[in-house]
Amino acid sequence: MRLSRYFLPILKEAPKEAEIVSHRLMLRAGMMKQQSAGIYAWLPLGFKVLQKVEQIVREEQDRSGAIELMMPTIQSADLWRESGRYDAYGKEMLRITDRHEREMLYGPTNEEMITDIFRSNVRSYRDLPLNLYHIQWKFRDEIRPRFGVMRGREFLMKDAYSFDVDRAGAERAYRKMFVAYLRTFERLGLKAIPMRADTGPIGGDLSHEFIILASTGESAVFCDRELLETPVPGADVDFDGDLAPIVESFTSRYAATEEMHDEAAFAALPEDRRVSARGIEVGHIFYFGTKYSEPMGAKVTGPDGQEKPVHMGSYGVGVSRLLGALIEASHDDAGIVWPDSVAPFGAGIVSLRPGDGAVDAACQSAYEQLAAAGVDPLYDDTDARPGAKFATVDLIGLPWQLIVGPKGLAEGTVELKRRATGEKQAVSLESAIARIT
Ligand code: ATP
Ligand code: MG
Ligand code: MG
Ligand code: MG
Repeated sequence: MRLSRYFLPILKEAPKEAEIVSHRLMLRAGMMKQQSAGIYAWLPLGFKVLQKVEQIVREEQDRSGAIELMMPTIQSADLWRESGRYDAYGKEMLRITDRHEREMLYGPTNEEMITDIFRSNVRSYRDLPLNLYHIQWKFRDEIRPRFGVMRGREFLMKDAYSFDVDRAGAERAYRKMFVAYLRTFERLGLKAIPMRADTGPIGGDLSHEFIILASTGESAVFCDRELLETPVPGADVDFDGDLAPIVESFTSRYAATEEMHDEAAFAALPEDRRVSARGIEVGHIFYFGTKYSEPMGAKVTGPDGQEKPVHMGSYGVGVSRLLGALIEASHDDAGIVWPDSVAPFGAGIVSLRPGDGAVDAACQSAYEQLAAAGVDPLYDDTDARPGAKFATVDLIGLPWQLIVGPKGLAEGTVELKRRATGEKQAVSLESAIARIT
């Protein structure tokens, strides 16, 4: 993409309504624009990152055996009456009436709808296990939308729902999602720690929140430092094999959010291993048994011929919240520092003198070679001053910068800068391209 033809509305001033760094940087970098409280338009740069995050989430869901579908955002109130949540959900639910006076709502989550899809189509244990997911916009009328995409009202979530014939099967499904989440956040360059979470009235111990440590996190969290070093399984992990040892390696160490915190257990850790910090909830997995299948009549016939309500779990990832979390975890005074896996463009080409024949030719050649190698470069061919160009490419956080000017070219070099370290090198165009690709 040539910057002269792109839509990248950079803001010079940090908008004053933005309280935390990720919110400020997303607005300044022209990634999004607020349309109403907690409701954002995704501008091209932000949308690109959102799609990259979404794709990593999708790939890891698919790898674990979950199957993608797509449910609507608008749901019927009647479904929620069946589960008893229509009245219980309260003011966070955006309720809508259609022209026929039918009560509808903008889905804050999809347990009821997926249970309805399941009960209409599945009858036998032979069709299980099953895990269905979608990546879809949700609406929750948060009392205090804030921190940009971190707590929006409209936000993108990946939500998966597992169906099993019994609790043992549901636990296997839970472990698959647990491992898929570890891998997802690792690929995003994030250290997310699974922490025991409240299961509410259902009880049991099968609920974990995946938390990223960040000073701007909304919840207080406590964990064993060793969790920060516990290895995450590779892409070759066998999802049909025994995942219990992997899950154990995380759950056997202390980690809890404020609501679940056990001061005595935490204090039993050696002092240098006690991490008391703030965290951002980026994912949440939950086994809830027959909470929805029972009232909604989602039953399967078991091997013994008996009909029983199916055991379910649900598994959420805050896809749009992750952009904020990523920036909280990776930025500096000059702007965002994207991990390579989600950077909106793989490299920026900065022309220090557009119109100079040699500079134009070198930039064009770099552009073509990088594009051919699948790097997806952003070529700053505009007339802005070099200082402004450097500020922009730093702000938007592209992993590599290739700076091309007449002086360097006269000596046969361009400047290659790695955004994350700030390290700069004068090298030939060929070796710069070789390093990036
Ligand atoms: P929170 O405690 O932050 O309100 P939650 O526990 O209500 O989140 P879940 O119902 O567990 O959220 O939804 C799954 C995931 O969706 C969360 O882990 C989070 O990453 C994301 N999420 C929830 N609410 C929002 C929101 N208002 N804006 C952006 N992402 C959200
Ligand atoms: Mg909430
Ligand atoms: Mg929560
Ligand atoms: Mg939650």
